[in-house]
Amino acid sequence: MNSDFLNQSIEFIKGVGPARSKLLSEELNLKTIKDLVDFYPYRYIDRSRFYNINEIPKNQSEVQIIGKIRSIRRTKVRYRDRLNCELYDDTGKIDLIWYRGFNWVEESLKINEDYVVYGKITWFGNKASIAHPEIKTKSNFNRNIPRRLHGIYSSTERLVNEGVTQKYFIKIIFNLLNSIQDNIKENLSLSILKEFNLVDRYKAIINIHLPESQELLSESIRRLKFEELFFNQLGFQLTRNDRVQKLNGFKFEKVGNNLNEFYKNSLPFELTGDQKKVIKEIRNDFRDGKQMNRLLQGDVGSGKTIVSLMVMLIAIDNGFQSCILAPTEILANQHFKSLSELLINFDIKVNLLTGSTKTKDRKLIHNDLLSGETNILVGTHAILEDIVQFRNLGLSIIDEQHRFGVAQRAKLWKKNNPPPHILVMTATPIPRTLAMSLYGDLDISSIKELPPGRITTKTVHKYDKNRLNVFKFLKDQIKKGRQVYLVYPLINESEKLDYKDLMDGYESVVREFPRPDFQVSIVHGKMNAKDKDYEMKRFIEKETQILVSTTVIEVGVNVPNASVMVIESAERFGLSQLHQLRGRVGRGNDESYCILMTKDKLSEDSKLRIETMVKVSDGFKLAEVDLKLRGPGDMLGTRQSGMLKFKLADIIYDTEILNNARNSAINILRDDPRLNNKENLPIRTEISSSSNSKNLWRYIS
Ligand code: ADP
Ligand code: MG
Repeated sequence: MNSDFLNQSIEFIKGVGPARSKLLSEELNLKTIKDLVDFYPYRYIDRSRFYNINEIPKNQSEVQIIGKIRSIRRTKVRYRDRLNCELYDDTGKIDLIWYRGFNWVEESLKINEDYVVYGKITWFGNKASIAHPEIKTKSNFNRNIPRRLHGIYSSTERLVNEGVTQKYFIKIIFNLLNSIQDNIKENLSLSILKEFNLVDRYKAIINIHLPESQELLSESIRRLKFEELFFNQLGFQLTRNDRVQKLNGFKFEKVGNNLNEFYKNSLPFELTGDQKKVIKEIRNDFRDGKQMNRLLQGDVGSGKTIVSLMVMLIAIDNGFQSCILAPTEILANQHFKSLSELLINFDIKVNLLTGSTKTKDRKLIHNDLLSGETNILVGTHAILEDIVQFRNLGLSIIDEQHRFGVAQRAKLWKKNNPPPHILVMTATPIPRTLAMSLYGDLDISSIKELPPGRITTKTVHKYDKNRLNVFKFLKDQIKKGRQVYLVYPLINESEKLDYKDLMDGYESVVREFPRPDFQVSIVHGKMNAKDKDYEMKRFIEKETQILVSTTVIEVGVNVPNASVMVIESAERFGLSQLHQLRGRVGRGNDESYCILMTKDKLSEDSKLRIETMVKVSDGFKLAEVDLKLRGPGDMLGTRQSGMLKFKLADIIYDTEILNNARNSAINILRDDPRLNNKENLPIRTEISSSSNSKNLWRYIS
C-alpha cells in the first residue's frame, strides 16, 4: 500500500469532514484512511433471499418475506398505541407492528396486495413479528431492487444518534474505495495468487465492503484471511531462519555406548513406532549442526519419558550434559526416580535440584555440574537460576511445556554457547493449527500411538445425588487392592473457598472411609513441600488407599496401582484438563475408571463437555473439541491466546487456509530467503511499509 496516502486523516474523504471525523475517531478509533479500509463489516445481510413464513429459522435476525396483508387494526398494548397488520403467505402468518406513523400505514397499505417486507424479527414463543418493517409493493420492489448483499458495520449508540447510519458507512466507504484504487497495492506474489486462486487485493477490499455477490464476498474473505495468516507465518519462518542461520548447534554425531547398551539391555519394553519415529527426528536434528527447537506432543501415557531419556543418552555419548525441567516438585521427583532406576547399571550421574534441595546439597550439585561430574540434572524452576551453571550443557528438555513461557525457554538457551538443543514436551496436545500459530518457530513431533495393551479407562458421569453408589463402588475397588484419586477443582477466584471445598471434601471422605480399614492422604498447593512429599509417598507406597487432592496431581504423576479417578465438580474443568486427570489412571494392567461427578443441574455446555469426555478417549481429538467448545482463550489462558487474535482469520475453522499460508511462506523463503527476487517485491514492500509487519524488516534488509 502507499502508506503516505493511507495514513491521511479520514477527514478528507468525501462526505466525512472535521466533525464526523472527530466522532468516528472517538467512537470507533477510526482515524486514518487505512483504518477505514480495514474496518470490515462484521456481518452481511442477503437481500436476494426470501423466506417462507413457516421456514424462518429462529436464529435469523433479519428476514425478507413476500406476502399479502389480511388485516390492519389499531390496538393498545400496555397503554401504548400500536398498529397491527397481519401478513400471510402460503405457509403462515406474521405480525407487522408500528408504534407511530399510523396514518401513513393505513392510507398506503392495501388489503390483499403483494408486499415485500424486510426487517428485524422478534419471537414471542412461536409467534413472530417485525416492528417498523421496510415495506414495498412487489411491483415497486422489482423496479428498484436494493443492493443484494449489505455489509453491517459495528456502530455505537452515539453514532446512530448523530446520524452515522449503516447507509452512511456504505456511502463513505463507497466514495473512498472508488478513489483509491491506485493506493491499494497487491502484497502477495503472482505465483501465490495463482497457486491458491486468490482474488487480487483491491478486488478483495472492494468486495468485503461492497460485495457484488455471495461468491465474490467469500472469495474476498478467503483472500484476506490468507494474507493475514501468510504474513503471520512468514514472520515465524523469518524468525526461525534467522535463528538457524545465526546459531550453530552442537553436533551429536556419535552413536555411543550408553545408547547402544541401553537399547540392547535396559529398555524395559519394545518401543512403539511413534516413539522410534520421534527419536529418529531428534537424532536428525542433532546431526545437522543447527540448534534444535522441537515440540514433542504426546498424549498422557504415550511414553515421552523414555524418549527423553534416550535422547539424553545421545547427548551424554557425545560428551554433553542434559537437563530436564518439570513444572512441579512432585513431577521432578518422579522423573528423578524413574531415570535413576532405568540407569541403575550405567555410569551416569543423575542429580535432582528443586526448591527444597538443602543448601549444602545444592552447593555440591552446583560443583558437580561445573566439573562435569553430573550428566543429567532433573529439577524444577530452580534449574533456571543464574547460579546454576553447567560445564557443557548440550540438551535441555522441558516437560509440560504449557506450564512454562517463552522467558523460561530463553533462560535455558543462555546456559551454554552455542545454546543447548531444546526439546519441549507436552501431554496437552493442542490442535495442529494452534501449535502452528503459537509455536510456529518450533518443529513439531507427535506421538499418537499408545503403548500396546493399554485398556482404555472406563469413563462415567455420575450426579451428586448418586454419591452413595459411587462411594460403594470405591470401597469395592479398594477391597480389591486398588487405589483411588479424588480430585477437587481449583478455581482462582477465591483460593479460600477452594481450600474450604477441599477440606470439607476431605472430611467427608474420612467420615465415609474410616480408619483403620481405610487410610486417606491429602495433597494441595498450600502444603509445604515436605508434607506434600510425605503424603504423596504414603500413597505411592500403598500405605493409603485414597488420595484427596487439588489439581497438583494433574501433571505427570505415575502410580500404576491407582485405578480409579474421581473428579469432583467435573463441570468446572475444561476437556483438556479432565483428560490430563484421567491420564493418571490406566497405567497398570487393571481395568481403570474415571468417574466424573457433577452437580445435578448442568448447563447445555457442561453437559456436552461431560458427554464428550465419556465418549472420546483420544487426547488429540479432545483437544480439537475443546478448542471448538471453549475457544483458544479459555483453553490456553489469555496470555497465549492473545497471540491468536486475527482480524478475519479464525484458526479454529480456517485450518486449510492456515496450512496453505504456512506452506507457501516456507516455500518462498526456501527459494528466496531475503525476498530479493523481483517476483516477491510485493511481499517485500508490504513488510517495509505496513506497521503490522515492520518488525520483520530487519530480517530481510
Ligand atoms: P507420558 O508420555 O505421559 O510422560 P510416560 O513416559 O510416563 O508417559 O509413560 C507411561 C507409562 O508407559 C510408563 O509406565 C512407561 O514405562 C510405559 N511405556 C512407555 N513406553 C512404552 C512402550 N513402548 N511399551 C510399553 N510401555 C511403555
Ligand atoms: Mg510425562
